[in-house]
Amino acid sequence: MDRVCAVFGGSRGIGRAVARLMAQRGYRLAIVARNLQGARAVAGDLGGDHLALSCDVAKEQDVQSTFEEIEKNLGPVNFLVNAAGINRDNLLVRTSTEDMLCQLQTNLLGSMLTCKAAVKTMIKQQGGSIVNIGSVVGLKGNPGQSVYSASKGGLVGFSRALAKEVAKKKIRVNVVAPGFVHTDMTKDLKEEHLKSNIPLGRFGDPLDVAHAVLFLLESPYITGHALVVDGGLQLTM
Ligand code: NDP
Repeated sequence: MDRVCAVFGGSRGIGRAVARLMAQRGYRLAIVARNLQGARAVAGDLGGDHLALSCDVAKEQDVQSTFEEIEKNLGPVNFLVNAAGINRDNLLVRTSTEDMLCQLQTNLLGSMLTCKAAVKTMIKQQGGSIVNIGSVVGLKGNPGQSVYSASKGGLVGFSRALAKEVAKKKIRVNVVAPGFVHTDMTKDLKEEHLKSNIPLGRFGDPLDVAHAVLFLLESPYITGHALVVDGGLQLTM
């Protein structure tokens, strides 16, 4: 059977690194993001038979038609990576309801919608593997990131429950929880100051996370696990 993977948030950062690694390992990929040009640029760079699609993960209709397009062009999805995510960091008292909703809708509802669509097709195929990208702050909490932390902590609870729900169908669901990683999301952070809290002394590279994602995607006896990839940051939190 073809290994077809949908990488939501595959146009930049961690998702792009996952897509590159998976392309090297022979997966057929759908690179999905809101900005179609960004997704196309990555799919084009990968060479081979990959697909680029535009989709807002927070919109159920978008997600459904994305899975239909992938099935039509590449075949049914049997691997899913949810790397689409946003942050609106601020103290809670300064966070607008709009900023709360957009973080929850993209980071949490978005992964629920893509998992729901993926699980339907994986049940028909009698198997599949999902990795959701959480965050170490979803496990530990971080001031200035209460809503973002909630969205990522919620993702862990969701993934564990879903792992139990679908295990009998031979579908596995896991989480990778990164610390600070060099991407657009962290480009405005003061690395010099923050890295003193990281035992390994540096921000992660997207490829550091991608290796962990691939490990969980392909590990046949691991499900409901949250794998922290943070250079030891959580030891100091
Ligand atoms: P980037 O900002 O580099 O990339 C985010 C990706 O998500 C882009 O491809 C973006 O494309 C896509 N995206 C954002 N919103 C949506 C949406 N509504 N629908 C579809 N796609 C969307 O972020 P990172 O690579 O850093 O982050 C990847 C994941 O890792 C996120 O979930 C993030 O929360 C998490 N994470 C990141 C950490 C870090 O230090 N970088 C640390 C811990 C967790 P487009 O804008 O075109 O839609």
